[in-house]
Amino acid sequence: MTSVPQGISQTGDKLLLTPGPLTTSKAVKAAMLHDWGSRDAVFLAANKDVLRRIAEIAERGESHVTVPVQGSGTFAVEAMITSFVPKSGKVLICINGAYGVRAKRIAEIAGRAVATLEFPEDTPVDPAALDAALAKDGAITHVFMVQCETTSGVLNPIDALAEIVAKRGRRTLIDAMSAFGALALSKACVYDALAASSNKNLEGVPGLGFVVCDKAALAQTKGNATTLVLDLHDQWQGFEKTGQWRFTPPIHTIMSLAKALDEHAAEGGVAGRGKRYAANCAVLVAGLRKLGFETLLPDALQAPIIVTVRMPADPKFRFQTFYDRLKDHGYVIYPGKLTVADSFRIGCIGRIDQDQMRGCLAAIAATLAEMGVASGAPARAAAAE
Ligand SMILES: *Cc1c(COP(=O)(O)O)cnc(C)c1O
Repeated sequence: MTSVPQGISQTGDKLLLTPGPLTTSKAVKAAMLHDWGSRDAVFLAANKDVLRRIAEIAERGESHVTVPVQGSGTFAVEAMITSFVPKSGKVLICINGAYGVRAKRIAEIAGRAVATLEFPEDTPVDPAALDAALAKDGAITHVFMVQCETTSGVLNPIDALAEIVAKRGRRTLIDAMSAFGALALSKACVYDALAASSNKNLEGVPGLGFVVCDKAALAQTKGNATTLVLDLHDQWQGFEKTGQWRFTPPIHTIMSLAKALDEHAAEGGVAGRGKRYAANCAVLVAGLRKLGFETLLPDALQAPIIVTVRMPADPKFRFQTFYDRLKDHGYVIYPGKLTVADSFRIGCIGRIDQDQMRGCLAAIAATLAEMGVASGAPARAAAAE
């Protein structure tokens, strides 16, 4: 029998190899062991600092400001779309996965005019197709795009897409949820707003969404919002006038995010974190292939965030059993969310390193052996042999 190292976090928990929430460090969780009032000077200073450091990570300089919202990442995406796209506007949603589909629903519920540009889940959004769509429809004011589509793990070419949007005189809105903090955009990339959250690559706990906003564009959004709580303009003005949140802030999330941002900086910022995730991803993909598994994406399209694996063809393979046994070994993986292929996912992000990835691969090998599955090869590869 292969020996399988137990997957275990700094606080003795199972490792979350998922798209988030993720495994966080002990120090990040320990930062929450206090009470603070929402008007506490210590909290307000930390809050201001956290928002400034997020804008720094975005590398936009003084032209942009971070506006936070209470809630998960989707709250930030909804705040971004409904605050930036005016009632008279029209948003083109680029879709190659579930998060694009979700953005379309948000815009529709808000009563905004919507157009879509759709691609299969294993295909990046094509800049030439975007250019053609914008040339054809002069009513489109905004374009929404997802940097890393976590549904499959595919990386979209945001720099090229945003350049086309700017050339055509329209505005870019980015869902960078599963990219921010590990995958940089070019400094020349122009956008009105970019949404992300505390609990993905920043390795904080859940509870805070935020939108990095171009101040000049944000200043024009007064009155656009469709809800009080997700009104980014009002939220921004609140901070400008009083330095305080309008409604109860997720104080513990913010205080622990301050610690998580220290760890992010200590690791070498976006480049350092991206490097660790890329190493995790490379170890994972190579190990899976050795066991016969096939990844959905070719390496060139794979973001080092989450890997989609095609379901093995062996009739002895049962995903639920596989999942449960890996969990017993301390590795929590994630079901698939694809329509193009039966699959499951394994995340490369969070407070996890290469050794832990190797431990997960050992657990996968042991589990396949226990199940009597000879190879992880999917049906298509088996048929091709
Ligand atoms: C995680 C994620 C979100 C937000 O999901 P929540 O469950 O609301 O935190 C949005 N877009 C992408 C691409 C994501 O990966």
